[in-house]
Amino acid sequence: MFSCERIDNDTISRQLHFDSEHLWHPYAALKNTPARFLAVSARGTTIRTAEGLELIDAVSSWWCAAHGHNAPEIVEAIRRQSDRMCHVMFGGFTHEPAIELGQRLVEFLPEGLNKIFFADSGSIAVECAVKMAVQYQYALGRPERCKLVALRGGYHGDTAGAMALSDPDGMHVLFRGIMPQHYFAGRPNCRFDDTWDDADFHSMEQVIEEHLNEIAAVICEPVFQGGNGMWLYHPNYLKSLREICDRHGILLILDEIASGFYRTGPRFAMEHAGILPDIMCIGKALTGGSITLAAAAASERVARTITESKIPAFMHGPTYMANPLACAAGVASLNLFSTRDYLTNVRRIEARLRQNLAPLRSLENTADVRVLGAIGVLELKSKPAADDILRIIRETGVWLRPFCNYVYTMPPLITADAEIDRICEAIRLIAQCEPMPVQEKDDFHE
Ligand SMILES: *Cc1c(COP(=O)(O)O)cnc(C)c1O
Repeated sequence: MFSCERIDNDTISRQLHFDSEHLWHPYAALKNTPARFLAVSARGTTIRTAEGLELIDAVSSWWCAAHGHNAPEIVEAIRRQSDRMCHVMFGGFTHEPAIELGQRLVEFLPEGLNKIFFADSGSIAVECAVKMAVQYQYALGRPERCKLVALRGGYHGDTAGAMALSDPDGMHVLFRGIMPQHYFAGRPNCRFDDTWDDADFHSMEQVIEEHLNEIAAVICEPVFQGGNGMWLYHPNYLKSLREICDRHGILLILDEIASGFYRTGPRFAMEHAGILPDIMCIGKALTGGSITLAAAAASERVARTITESKIPAFMHGPTYMANPLACAAGVASLNLFSTRDYLTNVRRIEARLRQNLAPLRSLENTADVRVLGAIGVLELKSKPAADDILRIIRETGVWLRPFCNYVYTMPPLITADAEIDRICEAIRLIAQCEPMPVQEKDDFHE
Protein backbone atom coordinates (compact mmCIF):
# COMPACT_ATOMS: atom_id res chain seq x y z
CA MET A 1 0.00 0.00 0.00
CA PHE A 2 2.78 2.46 0.90
CA SER A 3 6.06 3.05 -0.82
CA CYS A 4 8.83 1.64 1.30
CA GLU A 5 11.36 4.43 1.34
CA ARG A 6 12.79 4.53 4.85
CA ILE A 7 14.26 7.51 6.58
CA ASP A 8 17.16 6.77 8.93
CA ASN A 9 16.88 7.71 12.58
CA ASP A 10 19.48 10.50 12.41
CA THR A 11 17.60 12.26 9.64
CA ILE A 12 14.34 11.88 11.51
CA SER A 13 15.72 13.43 14.66
CA ARG A 14 17.40 16.27 12.75
CA GLN A 15 14.16 17.08 10.98
CA LEU A 16 12.12 16.91 14.18
CA HIS A 17 14.69 19.09 15.91
CA PHE A 18 14.42 21.79 13.23
CA ASP A 19 10.65 21.54 13.40
CA SER A 20 10.58 22.10 17.13
CA GLU A 21 13.03 25.03 16.88
CA HIS A 22 11.38 26.88 14.00
CA LEU A 23 7.87 25.78 13.12
CA TRP A 24 4.72 26.79 14.96
CA HIS A 25 2.10 24.09 15.19
CA PRO A 26 -1.61 24.52 15.96
CA TYR A 27 -2.28 25.49 19.58
CA ALA A 28 1.26 24.54 20.57
CA ALA A 29 4.32 26.07 22.13
CA LEU A 30 7.30 26.41 19.82
CA LYS A 31 9.59 24.34 22.03
CA ASN A 32 9.35 21.61 24.61
CA THR A 33 6.16 20.25 23.17
CA PRO A 34 5.38 16.54 23.35
CA ALA A 35 6.95 14.46 20.60
CA ARG A 36 5.52 14.85 17.11
CA PHE A 37 5.17 12.26 14.41
CA LEU A 38 6.92 12.84 11.09
CA ALA A 39 4.24 11.87 8.55
CA VAL A 40 5.55 10.64 5.19
CA SER A 41 2.49 9.33 3.40
CA ALA A 42 -1.20 8.73 3.86
CA ARG A 43 -3.64 6.50 2.06
CA GLY A 44 -7.17 5.46 2.90
CA THR A 45 -7.67 5.40 6.65
CA THR A 46 -3.95 5.21 7.39
CA ILE A 47 -1.10 7.67 7.95
CA ARG A 48 2.45 6.34 7.79
CA THR A 49 5.28 7.90 9.76
CA ALA A 50 9.02 8.10 9.07
CA GLU A 51 9.75 5.65 11.83
CA GLY A 52 7.44 3.13 10.14
CA LEU A 53 4.31 3.47 12.27
CA GLU A 54 1.00 2.97 10.48
CA LEU A 55 -1.72 4.89 12.27
CA ILE A 56 -5.45 4.71 11.64
CA ASP A 57 -6.53 8.34 11.36
CA ALA A 58 -9.44 8.29 13.80
CA VAL A 59 -9.97 12.06 13.45
CA SER A 60 -9.84 12.27 9.61
CA SER A 61 -7.02 14.82 9.98
CA TRP A 62 -9.26 17.31 11.73
CA TRP A 63 -12.46 16.07 10.15
CA CYS A 64 -11.44 16.63 6.51
CA ALA A 65 -10.43 13.27 5.04
CA ALA A 66 -13.99 11.99 4.61
CA HIS A 67 -13.13 9.68 1.68
CA GLY A 68 -9.91 8.58 3.38
CA HIS A 69 -6.52 10.06 2.55
CA ASN A 70 -5.33 10.54 -1.02
CA ALA A 71 -8.42 9.27 -2.76
CA PRO A 72 -7.03 8.45 -6.25
CA GLU A 73 -9.85 10.39 -7.99
CA ILE A 74 -8.92 13.58 -6.12
CA VAL A 75 -5.18 13.14 -6.61
CA GLU A 76 -5.75 12.65 -10.34
CA ALA A 77 -7.97 15.74 -10.57
CA ILE A 78 -5.30 17.90 -8.93
CA ARG A 79 -2.62 16.45 -11.18
CA ARG A 80 -4.65 17.09 -14.33
CA GLN A 81 -5.47 20.65 -13.32
CA SER A 82 -1.86 21.41 -12.35
CA ASP A 83 -0.75 20.59 -15.90
CA ARG A 84 -3.06 23.29 -17.23
CA MET A 85 -3.12 26.08 -14.66
CA CYS A 86 -2.33 26.09 -10.95
CA HIS A 87 -3.78 29.48 -10.32
CA VAL A 88 -5.19 32.61 -11.87
CA MET A 89 -6.71 35.59 -10.10
CA PHE A 90 -10.49 35.37 -9.73
CA GLY A 91 -10.86 39.11 -10.12
CA GLY A 92 -11.55 39.61 -13.82
CA PHE A 93 -11.12 35.90 -14.64
CA THR A 94 -13.17 32.83 -14.14
CA HIS A 95 -12.29 29.24 -14.98
CA GLU A 96 -13.73 25.81 -15.55
CA PRO A 97 -12.85 24.25 -12.15
CA ALA A 98 -14.67 27.07 -10.32
CA ILE A 99 -17.66 26.89 -12.65
CA GLU A 100 -17.86 23.12 -12.43
CA LEU A 101 -17.56 23.13 -8.65
CA GLY A 102 -20.21 25.82 -8.49
CA GLN A 103 -22.55 23.69 -10.62
CA ARG A 104 -21.93 20.65 -8.43
CA LEU A 105 -22.55 22.63 -5.27
CA VAL A 106 -25.79 24.13 -6.56
CA GLU A 107 -27.00 20.54 -7.06
CA PHE A 108 -25.55 19.21 -3.81
CA LEU A 109 -26.35 21.96 -1.30
CA PRO A 110 -29.79 22.30 0.30
CA GLU A 111 -32.34 23.93 -1.96
CA GLY A 112 -31.98 27.60 -2.73
CA LEU A 113 -28.48 28.09 -1.30
CA ASN A 114 -27.05 28.73 -4.71
CA LYS A 115 -25.02 31.96 -4.53
CA ILE A 116 -21.57 30.76 -3.69
CA PHE A 117 -18.54 32.61 -2.37
CA PHE A 118 -15.34 30.54 -2.37
CA ALA A 119 -13.09 31.19 0.62
CA ASP A 120 -9.70 29.73 1.41
CA SER A 121 -10.51 28.37 4.87
CA GLY A 122 -13.45 27.73 7.13
CA SER A 123 -12.72 30.77 9.27
CA ILE A 124 -12.79 32.99 6.20
CA ALA A 125 -16.07 31.46 5.04
CA VAL A 126 -17.50 32.42 8.44
CA GLU A 127 -16.14 35.95 8.10
CA CYS A 128 -17.77 36.18 4.66
CA ALA A 129 -21.12 34.87 5.91
CA VAL A 130 -21.10 37.50 8.65
CA LYS A 131 -20.19 40.27 6.24
CA MET A 132 -22.97 39.15 3.88
CA ALA A 133 -25.49 39.29 6.73
CA VAL A 134 -24.38 42.77 7.72
CA GLN A 135 -24.36 43.96 4.12
CA TYR A 136 -27.87 42.50 3.67
CA GLN A 137 -29.21 44.51 6.62
CA TYR A 138 -27.38 47.60 5.37
CA ALA A 139 -29.00 47.14 1.97
CA LEU A 140 -32.39 47.12 3.67
CA GLY A 141 -31.61 50.44 5.31
CA ARG A 142 -30.82 48.96 8.73
CA PRO A 143 -27.11 49.74 9.23
CA GLU A 144 -27.58 49.57 13.03
CA ARG A 145 -28.15 45.83 12.67
CA CYS A 146 -24.49 44.84 12.78
CA LYS A 147 -24.30 42.43 15.74
CA LEU A 148 -24.63 38.68 15.72
CA VAL A 149 -26.01 36.22 18.20
CA ALA A 150 -23.99 33.03 18.68
CA LEU A 151 -24.22 30.07 21.04
CA ARG A 152 -22.12 29.37 24.07
CA GLY A 153 -20.08 26.25 23.46
CA GLY A 154 -19.75 27.03 19.75
CA TYR A 155 -16.68 27.16 17.55
CA HIS A 156 -16.42 29.09 14.28
CA GLY A 157 -12.71 29.51 13.65
CA ASP A 158 -9.56 31.34 14.66
CA THR A 159 -9.62 34.69 12.84
CA ALA A 160 -10.75 37.67 14.91
CA GLY A 161 -14.27 37.77 13.50
CA ALA A 162 -14.73 34.02 13.89
CA MET A 163 -13.18 33.95 17.39
CA ALA A 164 -15.66 36.60 18.43
CA LEU A 165 -18.50 34.17 17.62
CA SER A 166 -16.94 31.16 19.34
CA ASP A 167 -17.52 30.24 22.98
CA PRO A 168 -16.75 33.42 24.96
CA ASP A 169 -15.12 31.40 27.75
CA GLY A 170 -13.30 29.05 25.41
CA MET A 171 -9.80 28.95 24.02
CA HIS A 172 -9.72 32.53 22.74
CA VAL A 173 -10.31 34.45 25.99
CA LEU A 174 -6.85 36.01 25.74
CA PHE A 175 -7.85 37.89 22.57
CA ARG A 176 -11.02 39.48 23.82
CA GLY A 177 -9.46 42.91 23.34
CA ILE A 178 -9.31 42.59 19.55
CA MET A 179 -12.67 40.89 19.05
CA PRO A 180 -15.83 42.61 17.89
CA GLN A 181 -18.53 42.29 20.56
CA HIS A 182 -21.54 40.12 19.85
CA TYR A 183 -24.29 38.52 21.94
CA PHE A 184 -24.45 34.96 23.22
CA ALA A 185 -27.31 32.66 24.06
CA GLY A 186 -26.82 29.73 26.43
CA ARG A 187 -25.64 26.43 25.05
CA PRO A 188 -28.62 24.28 24.03
CA ASN A 189 -28.83 21.73 26.83
CA CYS A 190 -31.47 19.37 25.52
CA ARG A 191 -29.62 16.34 24.17
CA PHE A 192 -30.05 15.17 20.59
CA ASP A 193 -32.24 12.19 21.46
CA ASP A 194 -33.96 13.48 24.59
CA THR A 195 -37.53 14.78 24.66
CA TRP A 196 -37.52 18.37 23.52
CA ASP A 197 -38.15 20.98 26.19
CA ASP A 198 -39.18 24.48 25.08
CA ALA A 199 -37.35 25.96 28.05
CA ASP A 200 -34.12 25.19 26.22
CA PHE A 201 -34.86 28.03 23.83
CA HIS A 202 -35.60 30.73 26.43
CA SER A 203 -32.08 32.09 26.59
CA MET A 204 -32.04 32.67 22.82
CA GLU A 205 -35.50 34.30 22.92
CA GLN A 206 -34.36 36.63 25.65
CA VAL A 207 -31.18 37.72 23.90
CA ILE A 208 -33.02 38.35 20.64
CA GLU A 209 -35.85 40.29 22.26
CA GLU A 210 -33.45 42.41 24.27
CA HIS A 211 -31.25 43.42 21.33
CA LEU A 212 -33.67 43.10 18.45
CA ASN A 213 -32.71 46.23 16.57
CA GLU A 214 -28.99 45.55 16.63
CA ILE A 215 -29.06 41.97 15.35
CA ALA A 216 -28.13 41.14 11.76
CA ALA A 217 -28.03 37.36 12.11
CA VAL A 218 -27.80 34.35 14.37
CA ILE A 219 -24.96 31.91 13.70
CA CYS A 220 -24.62 28.37 15.01
CA GLU A 221 -23.32 24.91 14.28
CA PRO A 222 -26.46 22.85 13.64
CA VAL A 223 -26.92 19.92 16.07
CA PHE A 224 -23.18 19.24 16.49
CA GLN A 225 -21.02 21.74 18.35
CA GLY A 226 -17.52 20.53 17.52
CA GLY A 227 -14.33 22.41 18.36
CA ASN A 228 -15.40 23.81 21.70
CA GLY A 229 -17.08 20.86 23.36
CA MET A 230 -18.15 18.01 21.08
CA TRP A 231 -21.79 18.48 22.09
CA LEU A 232 -24.91 17.14 20.34
CA TYR A 233 -28.14 19.04 20.84
CA HIS A 234 -31.80 18.68 19.93
CA PRO A 235 -32.84 19.55 16.34
CA ASN A 236 -36.00 21.29 17.58
CA TYR A 237 -33.77 24.08 18.80
CA LEU A 238 -33.09 24.89 15.15
CA LYS A 239 -36.79 24.88 14.27
CA SER A 240 -37.45 27.48 16.97
CA LEU A 241 -34.46 29.43 15.78
CA ARG A 242 -35.70 29.49 12.18
CA GLU A 243 -39.10 30.74 13.37
CA ILE A 244 -37.81 33.53 15.57
CA CYS A 245 -35.37 34.72 12.90
CA ASP A 246 -38.17 34.87 10.32
CA ARG A 247 -40.41 36.73 12.72
CA HIS A 248 -37.84 39.49 13.25
CA GLY A 249 -36.08 39.82 9.89
CA ILE A 250 -32.91 38.27 11.30
CA LEU A 251 -30.82 36.05 9.05
CA LEU A 252 -29.84 32.54 10.07
CA ILE A 253 -26.29 31.39 9.30
CA LEU A 254 -25.61 27.68 9.72
CA ASP A 255 -21.96 26.71 10.03
CA GLU A 256 -21.84 23.20 8.55
CA ILE A 257 -18.04 23.20 8.26
CA ALA A 258 -17.76 20.30 10.72
CA SER A 259 -21.24 18.78 10.52
CA GLY A 260 -21.70 18.75 6.74
CA PHE A 261 -21.02 16.01 4.20
CA TYR A 262 -22.73 13.13 6.04
CA ARG A 263 -20.78 13.49 9.29
CA THR A 264 -23.93 13.36 11.44
CA GLY A 265 -25.85 10.99 9.13
CA PRO A 266 -27.75 13.05 6.55
CA ARG A 267 -25.89 15.08 3.93
CA PHE A 268 -26.13 18.19 6.14
CA ALA A 269 -26.96 18.33 9.84
CA MET A 270 -29.71 20.90 9.23
CA GLU A 271 -31.76 18.05 7.73
CA HIS A 272 -32.32 16.66 11.24
CA ALA A 273 -34.46 19.76 11.82
CA GLY A 274 -35.85 20.12 8.30
CA ILE A 275 -34.93 23.80 8.11
CA LEU A 276 -32.95 25.94 5.70
CA PRO A 277 -30.61 28.80 6.61
CA ASP A 278 -30.19 32.05 4.72
CA ILE A 279 -26.45 31.52 4.50
CA MET A 280 -24.46 28.36 5.12
CA CYS A 281 -20.75 27.71 5.52
CA ILE A 282 -18.97 24.59 4.31
CA GLY A 283 -15.31 23.62 4.44
CA LYS A 284 -13.25 20.80 5.91
CA ALA A 285 -14.49 17.72 3.96
CA LEU A 286 -15.28 19.79 0.85
CA THR A 287 -12.02 18.77 -0.86
CA GLY A 288 -11.89 15.46 0.99
CA GLY A 289 -8.88 16.52 3.03
CA SER A 290 -6.63 17.36 0.09
CA ILE A 291 -6.40 21.17 -0.21
CA THR A 292 -7.84 24.01 1.79
CA LEU A 293 -11.13 25.32 0.41
CA ALA A 294 -14.36 26.53 1.99
CA ALA A 295 -17.43 28.43 0.89
CA ALA A 296 -20.27 30.58 2.08
CA ALA A 297 -23.49 29.92 0.16
CA ALA A 298 -26.31 32.44 0.31
CA SER A 299 -29.97 32.27 -0.65
CA GLU A 300 -31.43 34.11 -3.66
CA ARG A 301 -33.02 36.63 -1.34
CA VAL A 302 -29.79 37.54 0.46
CA ALA A 303 -27.85 37.78 -2.79
CA ARG A 304 -30.54 39.78 -4.56
CA THR A 305 -30.94 42.23 -1.69
CA ILE A 306 -27.23 42.96 -1.68
CA THR A 307 -26.99 43.11 -5.46
CA GLU A 308 -29.89 45.54 -5.87
CA SER A 309 -28.62 47.95 -3.21
CA LYS A 310 -26.48 51.09 -3.26
CA ILE A 311 -23.36 48.98 -2.70
CA PRO A 312 -24.07 46.02 -4.97
CA ALA A 313 -20.59 44.48 -4.73
CA PHE A 314 -19.96 42.02 -1.93
CA MET A 315 -16.88 43.47 -0.29
CA HIS A 316 -14.49 40.57 0.13
CA GLY A 317 -11.88 38.98 -2.15
CA PRO A 318 -9.01 36.77 -1.03
CA THR A 319 -5.89 36.60 -3.22
CA TYR A 320 -6.22 32.88 -3.84
CA MET A 321 -9.99 32.93 -4.17
CA ALA A 322 -11.35 29.90 -6.06
CA ASN A 323 -7.89 28.46 -6.58
CA PRO A 324 -8.21 26.09 -9.57
CA LEU A 325 -6.35 23.20 -7.92
CA ALA A 326 -8.63 23.40 -4.89
CA CYS A 327 -11.74 23.69 -7.05
CA ALA A 328 -10.68 20.68 -9.13
CA ALA A 329 -10.17 18.73 -5.90
CA GLY A 330 -13.61 19.89 -4.75
CA VAL A 331 -15.25 18.65 -7.96
CA ALA A 332 -13.64 15.22 -7.57
CA SER A 333 -14.62 15.12 -3.91
CA LEU A 334 -18.25 16.05 -4.67
CA ASN A 335 -18.32 13.32 -7.31
CA LEU A 336 -17.42 10.85 -4.58
CA PHE A 337 -20.00 12.30 -2.18
CA SER A 338 -22.66 12.05 -4.90
CA THR A 339 -21.89 8.55 -6.14
CA ARG A 340 -21.00 6.70 -2.92
CA ASP A 341 -23.63 5.61 -0.46
CA TYR A 342 -22.19 7.38 2.57
CA LEU A 343 -25.53 7.50 4.34
CA THR A 344 -25.46 3.72 4.67
CA ASN A 345 -21.79 3.76 5.63
CA VAL A 346 -22.35 6.34 8.33
CA ARG A 347 -25.31 4.37 9.72
CA ARG A 348 -23.02 1.34 9.96
CA ILE A 349 -20.25 3.33 11.63
CA GLU A 350 -22.76 4.85 14.04
CA ALA A 351 -24.09 1.45 15.08
CA ARG A 352 -20.57 0.15 15.63
CA LEU A 353 -19.56 3.22 17.65
CA ARG A 354 -22.67 2.86 19.84
CA GLN A 355 -22.02 -0.80 20.42
CA ASN A 356 -18.37 -0.22 21.36
CA LEU A 357 -18.62 3.02 23.31
CA ALA A 358 -21.77 2.34 25.35
CA PRO A 359 -19.96 -0.09 27.68
CA LEU A 360 -17.38 2.63 28.46
CA ARG A 361 -20.07 4.56 30.37
CA SER A 362 -19.32 2.44 33.39
CA LEU A 363 -15.63 3.36 33.54
CA GLU A 364 -14.67 5.37 36.60
CA ASN A 365 -13.31 8.33 34.62
CA THR A 366 -16.23 8.54 32.15
CA ALA A 367 -18.51 11.57 32.47
CA ASP A 368 -20.57 11.04 29.31
CA VAL A 369 -20.74 9.09 26.05
CA ARG A 370 -22.23 10.66 22.91
CA VAL A 371 -22.62 9.15 19.45
CA LEU A 372 -24.24 10.54 16.30
CA GLY A 373 -23.41 9.50 12.75
CA ALA A 374 -19.66 9.08 12.37
CA ILE A 375 -18.96 10.99 15.59
CA GLY A 376 -18.14 9.21 18.83
CA VAL A 377 -17.27 11.19 21.96
CA LEU A 378 -16.14 10.08 25.37
CA GLU A 379 -16.22 12.95 27.83
CA LEU A 380 -13.92 12.22 30.75
CA LYS A 381 -14.07 13.55 34.29
CA SER A 382 -10.42 14.47 34.13
CA LYS A 383 -8.10 14.64 31.17
CA PRO A 384 -5.50 12.00 30.42
CA ALA A 385 -1.76 12.79 30.45
CA ALA A 386 -0.12 13.64 27.11
CA ASP A 387 2.51 10.91 27.61
CA ASP A 388 -0.16 8.26 28.11
CA ILE A 389 -1.97 9.37 24.97
CA LEU A 390 1.24 9.13 22.94
CA ARG A 391 2.06 5.70 24.34
CA ILE A 392 -1.42 4.40 23.50
CA ILE A 393 -1.23 5.83 19.97
CA ARG A 394 2.02 3.94 19.42
CA GLU A 395 0.79 0.74 21.00
CA THR A 396 -2.57 0.58 19.26
CA GLY A 397 -1.65 2.19 15.91
CA VAL A 398 -4.61 4.54 16.24
CA TRP A 399 -4.19 8.29 15.84
CA LEU A 400 -6.39 10.19 18.30
CA ARG A 401 -6.22 13.83 19.23
CA PRO A 402 -8.05 14.37 22.52
CA PHE A 403 -8.55 17.93 23.76
CA CYS A 404 -9.68 19.16 27.17
CA ASN A 405 -11.65 16.25 28.62
CA TYR A 406 -12.83 14.92 25.27
CA VAL A 407 -11.52 11.77 23.63
CA TYR A 408 -13.38 11.45 20.37
CA THR A 409 -13.32 9.87 16.96
CA MET A 410 -14.57 11.27 13.65
CA PRO A 411 -13.10 8.65 11.31
CA PRO A 412 -13.09 8.72 7.50
CA LEU A 413 -16.51 7.70 6.20
CA ILE A 414 -14.95 4.61 4.60
CA THR A 415 -13.62 3.19 7.88
CA ALA A 416 -14.27 -0.55 8.25
CA ASP A 417 -15.90 -2.10 11.33
CA ALA A 418 -12.67 -3.81 12.37
CA GLU A 419 -10.93 -0.41 12.33
CA ILE A 420 -13.76 1.16 14.34
CA ASP A 421 -13.20 -1.60 16.89
CA ARG A 422 -9.49 -0.73 17.12
CA ILE A 423 -10.29 2.97 17.46
CA CYS A 424 -12.75 2.31 20.29
CA GLU A 425 -10.23 0.06 22.01
CA ALA A 426 -7.68 2.92 21.94
CA ILE A 427 -10.33 5.28 23.34
CA ARG A 428 -11.01 2.78 26.12
CA LEU A 429 -7.31 2.56 27.00
CA ILE A 430 -7.05 6.35 27.19
CA ALA A 431 -10.14 6.51 29.40
CA GLN A 432 -8.59 3.96 31.73
CA CYS A 433 -5.30 5.82 32.24
CA GLU A 434 -4.47 7.34 35.56
CA PRO A 435 -6.14 10.77 35.20
CA MET A 436 -4.15 13.98 35.54
CA PRO A 437 -4.65 16.09 38.64
CA VAL A 438 -7.45 18.60 38.05
CA GLN A 439 -6.12 21.76 36.41
CA GLU A 440 -7.01 25.29 35.49
CA LYS A 441 -9.26 25.46 32.43
CA ASP A 442 -6.59 26.42 29.88
CA ASP A 443 -5.96 23.08 28.34
CA PHE A 444 -6.77 23.56 24.67
CA HIS A 445 -3.08 23.58 23.83
CA GLU A 446 -0.86 20.51 23.52
C1 LIG B 1 -12.93 23.99 11.74
C2 LIG B 1 -14.11 24.85 11.82
C3 LIG B 1 -14.07 26.19 11.39
C4 LIG B 1 -12.80 26.84 10.92
O1 LIG B 1 -12.30 26.27 9.76
P1 LIG B 1 -10.76 26.52 9.37
O2 LIG B 1 -10.64 25.91 8.02
O3 LIG B 1 -9.95 25.83 10.42
O4 LIG B 1 -10.52 27.98 9.38
C5 LIG B 1 -15.23 26.93 11.45
N1 LIG B 1 -16.38 26.40 11.90
C6 LIG B 1 -16.46 25.11 12.31
C7 LIG B 1 -17.77 24.58 12.78
C8 LIG B 1 -15.33 24.31 12.31
O5 LIG B 1 -15.40 23.05 12.76
